Amino acid sequence: MSNYKHITVPAGDKIQVDETGHVTTPDNPIICFIEGDGTGPDIWRASKMLFDAAVKHCYGGKRAVSWMEIFAGEKANGIYGSYLPDETLEAIREYEVAIKGPLTTPVGGGFRSLNVSLRQQLDLFACVRPVRHFEGVPSPVREPDAVNMVIFRENTEDVYAGMELEAGTPEVARLIAFCEREFGWNIRHDSGIGIKPVSETGSKRIIRAAINYAVQQNRSSVTLVHKGNIMKFTEGAFRKWGYELVREEFSDVAVGWDDCNGDPGDKILVKDTIADIFLQQILTRPREFDVVATMNLNGDYMSDALAAQVGGIGIAPGANINYENGTAIFEATHGTAPKYANLDKVNPCSVVLSGVMMFEHLGWNEVAEAINNALMCTFGQKKVTYDFARLMEGATELKCSEFAAAVIENL
Ligand code: NAP
Repeated sequence: MSNYKHITVPAGDKIQVDETGHVTTPDNPIICFIEGDGTGPDIWRASKMLFDAAVKHCYGGKRAVSWMEIFAGEKANGIYGSYLPDETLEAIREYEVAIKGPLTTPVGGGFRSLNVSLRQQLDLFACVRPVRHFEGVPSPVREPDAVNMVIFRENTEDVYAGMELEAGTPEVARLIAFCEREFGWNIRHDSGIGIKPVSETGSKRIIRAAINYAVQQNRSSVTLVHKGNIMKFTEGAFRKWGYELVREEFSDVAVGWDDCNGDPGDKILVKDTIADIFLQQILTRPREFDVVATMNLNGDYMSDALAAQVGGIGIAPGANINYENGTAIFEATHGTAPKYANLDKVNPCSVVLSGVMMFEHLGWNEVAEAINNALMCTFGQKKVTYDFARLMEGATELKCSEFAAAVIENL
């Protein structure tokens, strides 16, 4: 018997994660899902249909996912009177893996974003966003296939940590007075202030995750992206700690640029670049970047800019992972697009490709590969949802659920 009030636990088994973060997946894993607000239910229905069909296609009934609905956002508020109930967090901690649609950010609530809240409360420190192009998907650039990167964005620190004081409040006045007195800093008295913490612990664990990923996936380089030329003790320290980590923990498999003059031999090259130059070079020389590790705000801008190069946010997947305890939430990276809610219209690919990442995380690589191949085939047939259809010649525009059915046919 479970102690959950509104969550029904289905028959199935728990995913196990050992102390090194290694994941063991039973044949009938219980996986949590949050369908999401706005267009979330449409996208989730289509994605779940495809996931179940792909698992059946690969394992013929020997394996199947036991989906367990947990609640966040407007649906949770209707059931619990809370946008992010405690038992949702408990269920994710207990069952380790969840997948979610987009959530509305309540205006004037106790926190700024449910997504940020989930990441912070579960300490999901790595936001992982693979960015690659699928042939046939419309793109604004000449060579979208040149982009094949995986962004590791630090999720818990930086100016996103939520430490902000509003201009004109007594609290900000105290902080300004303190800074003037203690450090001689001259801050305009009508300023709001945000704090940008960047720690050695937080930097090293995200860079460690990125290098481990590069090793496991046979990638050739890891680029640390920062504005260390300006923000020396936060972004500059991130760079310094990154190179330090390579020497301390990865010297057998990786080498920093300065330690090899840019020639890593058969090791993974760890290099760094300034964030503004990086945003130019992903357009002009995207082939030079592979795995990327960066701080929270840079990572936010970079992952959306890169997603645009390969087809936009309708197709951009993401995962939030704590690599130390294995807890992971896979999610759509776009919002709820409320004007399209319940029209069975929008592109489900962001959740579908997040599911591909989830199956890879679980070690069900056959399922991930089958979905990827079927998607490529469907795009090749020019069967797409409205967002791509308006950019393609001769496309067949499908509804969200029809698109999922077309992908299933191509499994
Ligand atoms: P949005 O929901 O991402 O929608 C902006 C535009 O992006 C849409 O109008 C649509 O463009 C396109 N789009 C979004 N999802 C799409 C899909 N699945 N397929 C095709 N096109 C898609 O952004 P928003 O309107 O700024 O935000 C709405 C709500 O979502 C807010 O409450 C926000 O806080 C929340 N949000 C949640 C998340 C999350 O849960 N991860 C992320 C961001 C925002 P066209 O109209 O041009 O077709």
